[in-house]
Amino acid sequence: MKMTINGGHCPGFDSGAVGATGLQEAVVVKDVMQRVAGYLRNIGSDVLEVQKNELYQITDASNRFGADLFVSIHCNAAVNRAAQGTETYCYSLGGPGEKLAGCIQRQIVNNLGTVDRGVKTDRFYVLKNTACPAALVELAFIGNPEDEKMLADQAKRDEFARAIARGITDYLL
Ligand SMILES: [Zn+2]
Repeated sequence: MKMTINGGHCPGFDSGAVGATGLQEAVVVKDVMQRVAGYLRNIGSDVLEVQKNELYQITDASNRFGADLFVSIHCNAAVNRAAQGTETYCYSLGGPGEKLAGCIQRQIVNNLGTVDRGVKTDRFYVLKNTACPAALVELAFIGNPEDEKMLADQAKRDEFARAIARGITDYLL
């Protein structure tokens, strides 16, 4: 099984969202991406880790690789700093993308106890231009003090990674 794991935003090019303490989304998602890839390789998956600045570079790499599924990892931010929790996106409802998003969302919420903001749809470039089932997970809100503390914590990042890997295996059952 071939899987692409994408850390959204490229360190050094685009920090992504930045928390009050200076924690950068790009740094958090790189770490989580590497951990997810490690867990998936442990169960025999062929994993492409990709973190590029241009979105087409991400989807081109995944499509060339011939991925069977694609997961992009992000942290959320909102003007309202009270907003917190986890949400996972798919391109459209009723297909494998929704199933993949739902499996990841459920594992994160159940295991980390984050606020469940549900599965949503969006025409994100990486969801639209990948030639396989795809989901984009927003782990938590880096702009929320409580969520940022969680995202800064190595042990919590590892829990997020394990939850994503388990969500992927749930999807494949
Ligand atoms: Zn992002």
